[in-house]
Amino acid sequence: MFVSLGLDKIQEVFADAAIGLGRARIFAQFELLMRSYRKAWSEVIPVKFEYYRATDVSDAIDVLASARDAKVIAGGHSLLPLMKLRFASPMTLVDIGRISSLSYILDRGEYVAIGALTSLRDIETSPILKTSVPILSYAASFVGDPSVRHRATIGGSVVHGDAAGDLPSVMLAVGATVVLQGPDGKRSVSVDDFFLGFLETNINFDEVLLEIQVPKSDAGWARSEFNRRAQDWAIVGVAVLGGKSPRVSLINMASTPIRAFACEDALVAGGSIKEAADLVSSDLDPPEDLNATSAFRSHLANVLVRRALERSL
Ligand SMILES: Cc1cc2nc3c(=O)[nH]c(=O)nc-3n(C[C@H](O)[C@H](O)[C@H](O)COP(=O)(O)OP(=O)(O)OC[C@H]3O[C@@H](n4cnc5c(N)ncnc54)[C@H](O)[C@@H]3O)c2cc1C
Repeated sequence: MFVSLGLDKIQEVFADAAIGLGRARIFAQFELLMRSYRKAWSEVIPVKFEYYRATDVSDAIDVLASARDAKVIAGGHSLLPLMKLRFASPMTLVDIGRISSLSYILDRGEYVAIGALTSLRDIETSPILKTSVPILSYAASFVGDPSVRHRATIGGSVVHGDAAGDLPSVMLAVGATVVLQGPDGKRSVSVDDFFLGFLETNINFDEVLLEIQVPKSDAGWARSEFNRRAQDWAIVGVAVLGGKSPRVSLINMASTPIRAFACEDALVAGGSIKEAADLVSSDLDPPEDLNATSAFRSHLANVLVRRALERSL
């Protein structure tokens, strides 16, 4: 059982078990198991791969298009854990991490342009974003810890498209646009059409995400999450951007980051905050896991959305 679960999963299972069963005894057993696990498996994580460091975007696209089963790596904070668990086994990694021209935050009038390699720490502290899209810099401050935020990139976060991620849901709430480049040139995709399925996003194997364009807004906003301990991933989270057509998005309420359309429609139709919040999961089938049942997730979403709407409308 432990071999097939993988290191990170074992830690998670034991952390959960420790809450109910007396920490000292559980962690003593855990240490013993971890020692034998590391000894047995230290040489087989992850599958062997070729490594290529791209000099610029065209170079990266050339390799992505020609190498067998190649994948971009930026900060590596999502891809490497998947590779260690062998949920992903690319044969070639194309490292774009040193293409410094992809790291910027620029005021372009109607929107703020954020280069794909911009770190979450830069997003958290950017004066431009704090003024023009404050919900985004606020949300970035909740990701992991400072060392994670210095390394993780906004492009990686959005392309990874984790339903539990803090930033994809904010991109939905603010109505961002993603700019991609492939062998045939550039294309822009609304973030509404970007999250396709579980860890599946609307990007081709030979494309690189260049930039995310985030509309400026002075509308009210709110963003909150429910978790058991500080720095845990959200069990459920919500991001709201107010204004005439409020946008409400949810963390961990589906297999992708998702907008609460029924709730948004109720607000536009003149419904009260309570009526809108009561509809938040009416068209969703929230997942169940160790942290929460589907019904509990719906309850959390209802409460968090109601509070967020009260603060932002
Ligand atoms: C200890 C730890 C704690 C964390 N805590 C949180 C948290 O609390 N909340 C949260 O939301 N996230 C959290 N994360 C996840 C982290 O935010 C994301 O891993 C990170 O933002 C992904 O960016 P990256 O540059 O590391 O992407 P990578 O891991 O390099 O790549 C992720 C995916 O995106 C693709 N990709 C990356 N950049 C591009 C590009 N420019 N063009 C095309 N494809 C690209 C890769 O091929 C891969 O599929 C945590 C991670 C760690 C390790």
